[in-house]
Amino acid sequence: MWKGRAWRHRLGSAARTALTVLYPWRCLNCSAGLPADRAFCPGCQGRIQVIHSPLCPRCGRPFASGVGPDHVCHQCLQQPPGFRYARAGAAYGTSSTSSQPLRRGIFRFKYARNMRAGKALAGLAAHHFSRARQQGAGLTEDYDRVIPVPLHLSRLRWRGFNQSLVLARAIGRHINTPVDPWLLSRIRPTQPQTQLSGEDRRANVRGAFRVNTPALARGKRFLLVDDVYTSGATVEECARTLYQNGARSVDVFTLARVVDL
Ligand SMILES: [Zn+2]
Ligand SMILES: [Zn+2]
Repeated sequence: MWKGRAWRHRLGSAARTALTVLYPWRCLNCSAGLPADRAFCPGCQGRIQVIHSPLCPRCGRPFASGVGPDHVCHQCLQQPPGFRYARAGAAYGTSSTSSQPLRRGIFRFKYARNMRAGKALAGLAAHHFSRARQQGAGLTEDYDRVIPVPLHLSRLRWRGFNQSLVLARAIGRHINTPVDPWLLSRIRPTQPQTQLSGEDRRANVRGAFRVNTPALARGKRFLLVDDVYTSGATVEECARTLYQNGARSVDVFTLARVVDL
């Protein structure tokens, strides 16, 4: 039994080594060769804008000044968000891709269906999650479940995987918390949020989600995971749906956050 396991392990690592020789890991931005499981070369890694204080303690928006204490942002003061706290690993702008390694990496994962990119980005998400968790308030809860933002079935069939679930699994493993990809569903297809602005984004996702088993949401503390936070409309609608079904708290973590650079 033990021997069998050892052999399987040896064969597994031999196959993995052969695969790495045939298809070396490459930087998701500039294609430089890399050790396995890494997402970016040191040069591209250095261009990623890691998010840290000062930021808005509610929505996690970083302040461009880069100095001073954390404070609630204008948007959250005007209209408190539908979740409790949101944090993101790194920021990028909406324009060119080559100078924004993380944006390019996420696009490769989502649109070129590059699963190695997914594996590397999942590791990066877990790393940034634990970094954000150590930085004071927000994301410090002992969560009951990690929930990926769901795709509609039509999008899932087209893409073949849910990118948020790949990230959620890595974070769930990291904090030893079960991931539940079945609790929340997207019950109608929505337009990609990137094509919309402001109020249209809220209207686009309004009523788009459903809690499948309300008994499993009641009194629970959730961590909602998505790849990118743009206006926050999608995660806010997910959080609202979970709260309507009795959730005790809903926090949000995304690998990236779109900011105006
Ligand atoms: Zn690179
Ligand atoms: Zn805010």
